[in-house]
Amino acid sequence: MKQPQCACGLPAKRCEVRKPGLKHPRGTVFFNCPNSLSDPLNKCEFWITEEEWIKRSKAAGRTATTAGKAERGAASKAEGAAAAKRIDDDLADELADALAMLRLLEQKITKLSARVAVRSDEGEVAARLG
Ligand SMILES: [Zn+2]
Repeated sequence: MKQPQCACGLPAKRCEVRKPGLKHPRGTVFFNCPNSLSDPLNKCEFWITEEEWIKRSKAAGRTATTAGKAERGAASKAEGAAAAKRIDDDLADELADALAMLRLLEQKITKLSARVAVRSDEGEVAARLG
């Protein structure tokens, strides 16, 4: 557990309620401004029971953990986006390759069909002549 700091920025003093009849029962552990004993005129209003401080520390810890999770979440989201981009790039490459292949096949088909057309023309001419 972190030691609390009072509003003066000083490490708060850990004390115990000794006087009876106060708001907090005797024996309650609390933290207050160290100036409340050494320099009461300059003390600040900082006063917190240890129980409350532990509660707040835990809450702060949870908030930090949540923030950490959110950060990690954002990081993995960015990683995911990068991975998605890599996949997109790969797909784009594959698509470009496929299109290039398709164009080659188209050229081949055009050439072949031209030759087939010539042959059949020749055939027709031959048939007519024969
Ligand atoms: Zn103080």
